[in-house]
Amino acid sequence: MKLIILDRDGVINQDSDAYIKSEEEWIPIPGSLDAMARLYHGGFRLAIASNQSGLGRGLFTIDDLNAMHRKMTRELSVQGAQVEGIFFCPHAPEVGCSCRKPLPGLLLEVASRLQVDLNGVPCVGDSWRDIEAAQAVGGMPILVRTGKGDLALSSHAEALARIACFADLAAAREWAHRFVHWYNHDHRHSGIRYVSPAQRHEGLDRPILAGRHALYLAARERHPRRWSPHTRNWSPIEFVTLNPEREAAAGNVLNKSAQAA
Ligand SMILES: [Mg+2]
Ligand SMILES: [Zn+2]
Repeated sequence: MKLIILDRDGVINQDSDAYIKSEEEWIPIPGSLDAMARLYHGGFRLAIASNQSGLGRGLFTIDDLNAMHRKMTRELSVQGAQVEGIFFCPHAPEVGCSCRKPLPGLLLEVASRLQVDLNGVPCVGDSWRDIEAAQAVGGMPILVRTGKGDLALSSHAEALARIACFADLAAAREWAHRFVHWYNHDHRHSGIRYVSPAQRHEGLDRPILAGRHALYLAARERHPRRWSPHTRNWSPIEFVTLNPEREAAAGNVLNKSAQAA
């Protein structure tokens, strides 16, 4: 899954304690739109998940918000890039909604609307609540030091010591790209019997697991005393949510075979 979820204020555009209320106030952080375009051209789907409580507080309207986002998409389209979805929580904190970060509601909406799984998906933010939301859905949190990032680093120093941290989105981009490649292609996930999502995606998990099973049986035959009669189960796992495209394909195949039967 090559998706990256970005917080908006303080990651893509300059943040302000007085809120970003208009198109004029929406000013990109140098290099951020370029980084988004590069991610897009590197095969990433781009989604934005942003708390916009200024709406609920009556500081600006949905038309103002749309104007800001038109400005952003216009500037991105110059570079041939586009954002697949802009998700925002419009509520003031006292409403007690489930979409305001640090709660995971907004990210879960991204997952459901884009039909993706958030396992290992990089989620870039400049606030501790962005990190918490990312962790809650199994994403890979990344902190940038633009916006409120430095503030978060001083208020949550111990917790953030374990989190990938970069000067800005431009600096985070390459790491995110490498991480996603490692996660999908190199990392052998225990939840899918130590194959990678890409191997599952290409249908290679069955021969790989069959090969391992044969290897274990042969080893047991050679040295019966070293092995219990119950060696590891290397049968493929059918349903897991690490790799949604694969799941969707498998679902279609299963549906078809069910219809044929
Ligand atoms: Mg922010
Ligand atoms: Zn909300």
